[in-house]
Amino acid sequence: MWTRDTAPPRPGDPLTVTERATLVLAPNANAWTFEGTNTWVLAEPGSDVCAVLDPGPDDDAHVAAILAAAGERCVAAVLVTHAHHDHAELAPRLAELTGAPVRAAHPRLTDEPLQDDDEIRVGALTVRVLYTPGHTGDSVCFLLPDEGSVLTGDTVLGGGSPIVKPGRLGQFFDSLDRLSEVLAAPGSMILPGHGPVLTDPLAQIERRRKARLRRVDQVVGALAEGVEDPEDLVDRLYPDLHPDLRDAARISVDAVLAHVQTTHS
Ligand SMILES: [Zn+2]
Repeated sequence: MWTRDTAPPRPGDPLTVTERATLVLAPNANAWTFEGTNTWVLAEPGSDVCAVLDPGPDDDAHVAAILAAAGERCVAAVLVTHAHHDHAELAPRLAELTGAPVRAAHPRLTDEPLQDDDEIRVGALTVRVLYTPGHTGDSVCFLLPDEGSVLTGDTVLGGGSPIVKPGRLGQFFDSLDRLSEVLAAPGSMILPGHGPVLTDPLAQIERRRKARLRRVDQVVGALAEGVEDPEDLVDRLYPDLHPDLRDAARISVDAVLAHVQTTHS
């Protein structure tokens, strides 16, 4: 298990996290991807088929690690939480290598985009699609109903906050509400797209909701004091910002500004 209190696995070393989910950390750590992208191999115990979720970057060592984690099992589906490169880049190649279809909500990745509540069967494994826009318009989470785990992509990260684009903050809060309902069952866990597994999902979602609302309050307060320039707001809200993350912070500030304009006027 990889939790907030334990070290991450080494990239490529498969880590069994639940009965149905094995984590293969991709070798793409950077300021945006934290420790790297979490690629998941999903299968019903004893099954001879599996799904690969968020295959990650197109990297030969990572492909080999994914196929090793799949082992004897045949890859029957390539699932993608959203079309960002760090999650989806490898999807077309993995689909070609394995003959498995890509299942995603973004029409760039598939002719048959996923819809909310779609059910995907991978052998005896059931995977349910939850449409959770916010981080992007095509963000979906995948529920494993038989164990209550939810694979959240970047909608809920193991640590930190995802970028939410301007105009999507309301959707993002709605998506957190939806996830809280789904994750209320005892034993439910969040298997995120980056960072450690969250074994206390409701508390973690609440923390993230409060963190985002605090940003909204900070912007409302700054605007009331006459600080309106988005770059000044970035300096004020993110005083110790890593320079690589300035663009991300600016998008987040713009999203809060758009949200404040629609909800506080
Ligand atoms: Zn990501």
